[in-house]
Amino acid sequence: MNILPDFRTLRPASLSDAVAALATPGAEPLAGGTDLLPNLRRGLGRPETLVDLTGINGFAAVSVGADGTLRLGAGATLEAIAEDARILESWPAVAHAASLVAGPSHRAAATLGGNLCQDTRCVFYNQSEWWRSGNGFCLKYEGDKCHVVVKSDRCYATYHGDVAPALMVLNASAEIVGPKGLRQVALADLFRESGAEHLTLEAGEVLAAVLVPPATGWVTAYFKVRVRDAIDFPLAGVAVALKRDGNVIAGLRVAITGTNSAPLMVPADALWGRPWNDETAEALVQAVRKVSNVLKTTVAGVKYRRRVLLAVARKQMDDLWNGK
Ligand SMILES: Cc1cc2nc3c(=O)[nH]c(=O)nc-3n(C[C@H](O)[C@H](O)[C@H](O)COP(=O)(O)OP(=O)(O)OC[C@H]3O[C@@H](n4cnc5c(N)ncnc54)[C@H](O)[C@@H]3O)c2cc1C
Repeated sequence: MNILPDFRTLRPASLSDAVAALATPGAEPLAGGTDLLPNLRRGLGRPETLVDLTGINGFAAVSVGADGTLRLGAGATLEAIAEDARILESWPAVAHAASLVAGPSHRAAATLGGNLCQDTRCVFYNQSEWWRSGNGFCLKYEGDKCHVVVKSDRCYATYHGDVAPALMVLNASAEIVGPKGLRQVALADLFRESGAEHLTLEAGEVLAAVLVPPATGWVTAYFKVRVRDAIDFPLAGVAVALKRDGNVIAGLRVAITGTNSAPLMVPADALWGRPWNDETAEALVQAVRKVSNVLKTTVAGVKYRRRVLLAVARKQMDDLWNGK
């Protein structure tokens, strides 16, 4: 790794000051730095100014409103989310997903906003500058060809965030603040399927908070597969939210990560009203297969990641159905 390049750091105390600071040409947000700083040390980006969001008043606040909506400030650390008694009680998949990110020292600094907005990853991108230059760089950064899908005109780098799918199956929304004011979008709409431009944030915009509605009647779970259990990105991750009414599925939402350039919802409405049996399980597996697009973007084999994704989707649902 290189030493960090030269940049200046601003530390605003309010969101409006942060938005103003981000209007400076070449400025980028910095939160816990656990994703951004290693990337900068690999020569992936040369921001002139980093706008440190961790000094913003109230940015890390976590609260539950009178209507039962959970509000997670984007500056809340993953450690705080994983250990919050209210989240553990009412939105356990979110706490669990946060607890599975990286290692303990990362989670103490890493924020929700940084986790959701983390860069996409690829074996041809997360390498030293020296390695990448020897390969002619790549479409995501400084090059003009994709080494994963040769002749492609888009980058296939993969999104490996753990927390997004757990929030998406709970119908979470994102509060975004920028030069044009505040807007709210479904969390799924924060992302797009493009490895080089996977966020729909506009210039100068900051993710301010995530809102999670009450999940009464739903059971939820998140499961990730990784090479090293102690510290690793998901090779594939699946979140499921299930509402059961006797012997039928009264509600089902499924989201995947680690497979595409964005975390994606799997259309599962067709399974509502059906019992959970082998036929329904096969329909779920086919729906996951259709949405996912596992390519050679990690050192783990493509076939393994595809198969494990489908197996995990079915197992998650089996376990929730059987109250495990
Ligand atoms: C060894 C290692 C293992 C890891 N394992 C995992 C893992 O298992 N799962 C996982 O999900 N991640 C993993 N990560 C990635 C990273 O640690 C986490 O995603 C972490 O949550 C990032 O949060 P942060 O606050 O440190 O983000 P930062 O590094 O500060 O920022 C990340 C990106 O988000 C942008 N950003 C930050 N906050 C905002 C905001 N509020 N609005 C708009 N943009 C913003 C920054 O500009 C930057 O581009 C790992 C990292 C390392 C080094």
